[in-house]
Amino acid sequence: MIDLRSDTLTKPTPEMLEAILAAPLGDDDRTHELGRGEDPTVNELEDHAARITGKQAAVLVPSGCMANTAAVLAQVKPGSTLLVDEQQHLMISEKYLFDPVLGRMSPQTYRHDEHGQPNLGDIAAALDAGGIDLICVENSHNYAGGAAITCERLAAIHELAQAHGVPVHMDGARLFNAALALGVDVSELCQHVDTLMFCLSKGLSAPVGSIVCGDQDTILEVRRMRKALGGAMRQAGVIAAPGIYALRHTVERLAEDHANARAFADAIADLERTHIVGDVVTNIVVIDVSDITDDPLAYCERAAERGLIIRPVMKRYIRFVFYRGITREDALNAAAIVRELDAGL
Ligand SMILES: *Cc1c(COP(=O)(O)O)cnc(C)c1O
Repeated sequence: MIDLRSDTLTKPTPEMLEAILAAPLGDDDRTHELGRGEDPTVNELEDHAARITGKQAAVLVPSGCMANTAAVLAQVKPGSTLLVDEQQHLMISEKYLFDPVLGRMSPQTYRHDEHGQPNLGDIAAALDAGGIDLICVENSHNYAGGAAITCERLAAIHELAQAHGVPVHMDGARLFNAALALGVDVSELCQHVDTLMFCLSKGLSAPVGSIVCGDQDTILEVRRMRKALGGAMRQAGVIAAPGIYALRHTVERLAEDHANARAFADAIADLERTHIVGDVVTNIVVIDVSDITDDPLAYCERAAERGLIIRPVMKRYIRFVFYRGITREDALNAAAIVRELDAGL
């Protein structure tokens, strides 16, 4: 079976598991100045993350979902209004910020263009109208086919936001994929946002964990929110050690995943009824099969019968994610199955 549901399926490498055995550990929830704990491996990971993103401070959290939730709650009060992309993961999939009991936030949305770039006019209009407390962007943009928001667009959003005194949070679950696609250093993207998070547990292949980065005061507040959400961990060095390995050794290989996504997309580009959504620039390909069926779940079942595991997203689309362990041959075999389904379910 070729399983292209998500890059969260990556398993840790043997070196990551060895790094756990060798890691010095301590109680990360026994905190000292700046809210930092006693696990030296966690502290090393957080320092490294802050350095590469060009931010003052960083904090390890158990999941990407908690990273977004804690980062936003650290900056604005429950009940605030968040300006989000209309297809943003933290609104559509996570939802907890908008939960009537937990975050109690109200969403206001902006659109993105066919290349996944946020609509500046929408953002300017929303800010001018007032009442926006924080702006969220997603880079790379999952449901927009893995699009990478450019430095120029982020800079323009940040400029508008700063003129209105509104902070910007970047969901960078796949930040390293975005930077690679754009050919820039991650710090160049991060300089245009106040806070950001990225996942260690997706294409980077670490088993668990995400990181939130920002200025010292904000990260201290993220630590408080992490604790409140149940995310303060004790010997979290067992999570941090593979994370350090990932940041040192698995970033460059993301290029293979991008190339496999590209090869898959090229092999289905001529199909009449299968439409690729947006540009394929990272490790994600999203297709629209509404010319074939109005039941994407049935499409996925037919694919599974042929050996390909995929899932619908956004009701009418289907997502293919390429990651470590998926070969070029897998990508081309997946394309052959998509070609068969295009010819008739
Ligand atoms: C996966 C993902 C998250 C959440 O990460 P988890 O670790 O699964 O909670 C957040 N944002 C985006 C865009 C994602 O793809």
